[in-house]
Amino acid sequence: MAEMESDPYTHRRALNPLVWLSLVFVVAVLIAAAVGTHWAVDQVDRRAVIAERRTIAAALALERESVVAGELRSIWEAARQTNDEPGSAAILADVVRETHDLARVYILTPEGDLPLAVGGPQHPEKMIDPNDRAAVQLLLEQFGQMEGADEGPDFSTTEAKHPSLTDTVRLADGQMAFVGLSLIAPDGGGVDEAPATRFLLVSIKPISAQMLASLADHFGLEGLHFAAPRPNHATLPILNNAGRVIGFVAWQPNRPALSLLWEGAPGTVSFLFLAAMGLAFLLAWVRRTTVQLAATQTQTTYLALHDPLTGAANRVLFEKRLLESMAYPYLARTTVALVAIDLDGFKDVNDTYGHAAGDQIIKQVATRLSFALPEEATLARLGGDEFALVQPGVLNEGQAKWICQNLMRVFDTPFVLSDASVEIRASFGVALEEGNAVSATEMRRRADVALYASKAAGRNQLKVYDPAMDKSRRERRSLEVELRNALLTGQGLFLLYQPIFDANSGAVAGAEALVRWDHPERGNLAPDMFIDMAEETGLINQLGAWVLEEAARFAVTSELPWVAVNVSPLQFRNLDFADGVLRTLSARGLPAERLQLEITEGVLLQNSRSIQAMLARLRTAGIQIALDDFGTGYSSIGHLRAHSLDKLKIDQSFTRSIVRDPATLSIVRSVIDLARALDMSVTAEGIEEEAQRRLLKELGCTELQGFLLSRPLTAQRLVGLLAERRSVA
Ligand code: C2E
Ligand code: CA
Ligand code: CA
Repeated sequence: MAEMESDPYTHRRALNPLVWLSLVFVVAVLIAAAVGTHWAVDQVDRRAVIAERRTIAAALALERESVVAGELRSIWEAARQTNDEPGSAAILADVVRETHDLARVYILTPEGDLPLAVGGPQHPEKMIDPNDRAAVQLLLEQFGQMEGADEGPDFSTTEAKHPSLTDTVRLADGQMAFVGLSLIAPDGGGVDEAPATRFLLVSIKPISAQMLASLADHFGLEGLHFAAPRPNHATLPILNNAGRVIGFVAWQPNRPALSLLWEGAPGTVSFLFLAAMGLAFLLAWVRRTTVQLAATQTQTTYLALHDPLTGAANRVLFEKRLLESMAYPYLARTTVALVAIDLDGFKDVNDTYGHAAGDQIIKQVATRLSFALPEEATLARLGGDEFALVQPGVLNEGQAKWICQNLMRVFDTPFVLSDASVEIRASFGVALEEGNAVSATEMRRRADVALYASKAAGRNQLKVYDPAMDKSRRERRSLEVELRNALLTGQGLFLLYQPIFDANSGAVAGAEALVRWDHPERGNLAPDMFIDMAEETGLINQLGAWVLEEAARFAVTSELPWVAVNVSPLQFRNLDFADGVLRTLSARGLPAERLQLEITEGVLLQNSRSIQAMLARLRTAGIQIALDDFGTGYSSIGHLRAHSLDKLKIDQSFTRSIVRDPATLSIVRSVIDLARALDMSVTAEGIEEEAQRRLLKELGCTELQGFLLSRPLTAQRLVGLLAERRSVA
């Protein structure tokens, strides 16, 4: 089954590289897009956080500065000028505190230890809230440092009149607060004024959750609160003047890019989904197309290398296999066998049953052969009814023959058509590669020569190439040319006539015309030497016509009751055959009753309507039909009945063994019974011994022929014999 089973349609359904590549590409693009987007979002959001941090820092700075706002001082100053009473200072301080949203306000001397006034409901007494003490102390220290500085405060301007400082502190209760200190110099006073008239205004403004909430609200930030830094929150350290971190505010950063991304998510997701669908469709399409393409390609390759009818390798693949087998020694010390196979009589089947039936048989032959093939063999159909086989790894000639005999056995069973079963045989020619001295072309030639030899040897044969075959083939070629010449010129061909005697009377019943060829170089050639060649080359039609013409020409002038002419089965292929015979008879003026045609079983085997019709036509005209060499072929009683015939000629091989072999005797006896039953006469041919003659006569043969009675004679001698007999009678 070496080459038969490769099915062009089972294409592997694996994803092809293109699809894989596209998938990898798409995934890579998606990953890159995700990473890129993430990076961009992060980048934008980071910048947003920085901006938010700046905003908060600025807002807090504003809040901080508000604790020493100029207007705060002016309120106090205005109030003090109208009422210089320290008692009422507390009320003023409270006004300042309330108008400026401060928690507490203290008015101190620059020395700072005694508050002149305190703002705020909790501390009506003139004392500093213990919660604020550290903060106030810190401010006074910073003020002292400021005053003690080399340059000193410049009081010449309004701004210099009211120097101030602010800080951010943690109060004793842990709360953070903005604190501020302003120096309030009396209005209109100069540098010369007593220092006692100077006051310090200290304001405390805790950074409350409320303050942060309103800040957050104002700047569009969410969840601004005090907290240590933690993930997902933006934080801003709060520093005091000394630069130390005293706390953090934290908030939920806005992350505009991320929210933009989220807002855009449904759109993006649908887009990606659609894109993925589109891509999937595209990939599926690409895949299907490529699979189809590959399948078409596989199919095309298959068709290019196989015979469409049988699925066997074609000539191209066969050549390839042959070259491969010859190029790579299959096993050490083995050879390659090339077997040429040709069906015998296939043309008859085609002619008889039609081409469809012929195809059916070719198919069956291929199937049967493929089942009988060794594993590594390649079976090819080279055309028509020609097959060939390459078999690598053959050990010797014996093995090659054994393989072929197995193949020949597949023809033992008849081939079944829808309305008939047909016997077909095949001829085999084997060439064995010997060493590597032989080319593939030479191998093919040798297999053909061997095939030819087995055909010549009578078909259904197996021959292994032998150099001697080349010589005989060459001789055959020249013989063909010479026969063609002889038929053209009428030179060298002649007929002998072997008399056939009446079994009872011993009289000459008739004579069989036997062709001879007086070859210029080879002398007198018997038909065995050239009939096969004539059949192969088609010259048989011309030869047959010449024989008939010559026999009729002779018979019409002689006293011979009838003349028998041998007809090759191939002559029946010519649909004009019967008409040709009748035309010759009338042209020569020989009555149809004086002609017998000897046909062989091969003719009946063809079982064709046209042959049946031709035989019927010849018989109706009065020509007798004899079945020659009966018992050597495959003839069946069925055939005999289907074509009513006039005569059976029992083959010489039976005559030869009839005296000594009881089995032959009983066969001949039943053949004669059969002929009687079918109303046919029986001729025994090849009689060489008296015992044979007597036995065959006793068995009931009606006519006898053989060397014992008469050898084939020239026309002249036959005429002599006839005259002699007549005078005796
Ligand atoms: P066949 O038709 O069976 O012819 C009888 C053959 O047996 C003849 O050989 C004949 O010489 C031979 N023969 C006759 N009596 C004896 C005998 O007692 N002993 C032996 N051993 N042989 C005997 P031939 O003439 O060599 O012919 C051989 C075959 O060639 C014929 O066999 C026939 O089939 C074929 N043939 C002869 N002439 C023609 C022809 O004109 N056309 C065709 N198509 N075939 C022919
Ligand atoms: Ca004959
Ligand atoms: Ca015969």
